[in-house]
Amino acid sequence: MMYDPQPTASHYVNGAYLEDTSGTPIPVIYPATGEVIATVYAATPAVIDAALAAAEAAQKLWAKVSPRERGRVLTRAAQIMRERNHDLSVLETRDTGKPLQETLVADATSGADALEYFGGIAAGLTGEHIPLGEDWVYTIREALGVCVGIGAWNYPTQIACWKGAPALACGNAMVFKPSETTPLCALKIAEILTEAGAPAGLFNVVQGMGEVGSALVTDPRVAKVSLTGSVPTGRKVYAAAAEQMKHVTMELGGKSPLVIFDDADLDNAVSGAINGNFYSSGQVCSNGTRVFVQKGIKEAFLARLAERLKNAVIGDPLDEATSFGPMVSERQMQIVQGYINKGRAEGARLISGGGRVERDGFFLEPTVFADVTDDMTIAREEIFGPVMAVLDFDTEAEAIARANATEFGLSAGVFTRDLSRAHRVIGQLRAGSCFINSYNDAPVEAPFGGVKASGVGRENSKAALDHWSQLKSVYVRMGDVEAAF
Ligand code: NDP
Repeated sequence: MMYDPQPTASHYVNGAYLEDTSGTPIPVIYPATGEVIATVYAATPAVIDAALAAAEAAQKLWAKVSPRERGRVLTRAAQIMRERNHDLSVLETRDTGKPLQETLVADATSGADALEYFGGIAAGLTGEHIPLGEDWVYTIREALGVCVGIGAWNYPTQIACWKGAPALACGNAMVFKPSETTPLCALKIAEILTEAGAPAGLFNVVQGMGEVGSALVTDPRVAKVSLTGSVPTGRKVYAAAAEQMKHVTMELGGKSPLVIFDDADLDNAVSGAINGNFYSSGQVCSNGTRVFVQKGIKEAFLARLAERLKNAVIGDPLDEATSFGPMVSERQMQIVQGYINKGRAEGARLISGGGRVERDGFFLEPTVFADVTDDMTIAREEIFGPVMAVLDFDTEAEAIARANATEFGLSAGVFTRDLSRAHRVIGQLRAGSCFINSYNDAPVEAPFGGVKASGVGRENSKAALDHWSQLKSVYVRMGDVEAAF
């Protein structure tokens, strides 16, 4: 079975597809050709209301389901996702343009990992007993209530599951709004959760642009908002949530440093830089886009990198041999082209790429600039495309200071054969998700998230549970109550 990219309806509310064609039409474009493959409609206020009402009703029941049973629903959903990995991956490729070679291993599989992990951990969610001599306190880990998830367009399936799985494991219900650019796969997650036994209304999907997100964030029925998006959107959503004192998780952008020392294994360092800049055509928040290379290894690094880039297979993303696909949209391609032009204009040395690929769709070449300096635009702003900036450095202290001179703090990496230096340097880099002699691994077992402007809260791992639940503490007095009068 192959999924029809045109979904049954635009939204998934209360356990079923729901259509309302009076909303703004949203064309879904296959980035590799520019053709419209489906149309969905933005949620109207009536659809948003129906989704929140369904979530509110479902959450009340779900919070009473035993955690082990909740976990069983999630692990069943994980199993269904794995069985349908190929079809889900093809749909993700059509929605995002990312090569099937990637989506087969990094999207539905990562989503299934999250469902499996949080499904497994659900039964272990307990409170504490705190002895105080005769009296005692116990704590109850409670659900927050109705939670809103808002996703970016680079990892639609993964984002829906990274938010949905821990939320549901903790007893919450969710209304999820995918990016308008990639609305298709979250609907499949909702369908699969229903099939796995989730009650109607537990996981709802509504489509729309920023206004729909904003309507969800400001609704008083919502207890928490988890956003994956850019820093400017994060600021707006965080502020709106603060107005009603809602919980938030903000997974935002970055301009992460990857520091390569003279003694690094050259091919491993080049592989790390490729993974940290060109996977998903560079549309990854944690990418190490400021590649600091120590002067002694610089020319060898650039030469080997240029050689390795020739092996990129740019083409039809649905062909499993393709390893590099298009930008998600024409608009994103233009934004990235703007940065490439700035790189040239500000005097960076173009080592490879720099142009569009001669074919339909929104393809850009993998692009590398060398001799980049800290003040250049391409070294300061998040590009979210296949543009690597290589900067030189002399000393460890200099590399650390320059790597930290940014408003962002999502990720950081270091390549060196000197293990004490590796730990010393990583210990001083101000970032949430770090790597030693590797880059961009994101197993569900590890906390993921940023510091500084890159966000608050953590996704994945046991740490995520604290962001999807709250503690009630109960003081129990065993004797008489003393009072002043
Ligand atoms: P945006 O910030 O533009 O959008 C993110 C989501 O928020 C979209 O669904 C968007 O809707 C919605 N939105 C926009 N305005 C509002 C608002 N006022 N209230 C509520 N919701 C709103 O990001 P992109 O989709 O362009 O994604 C790219 C960005 O995401 C990059 O900066 C990247 O770094 C970041 N990112 C971070 C990750 C992380 O985990 N740290 C992972 C992946 C990406 P719509 O776009 O449909 O209008």
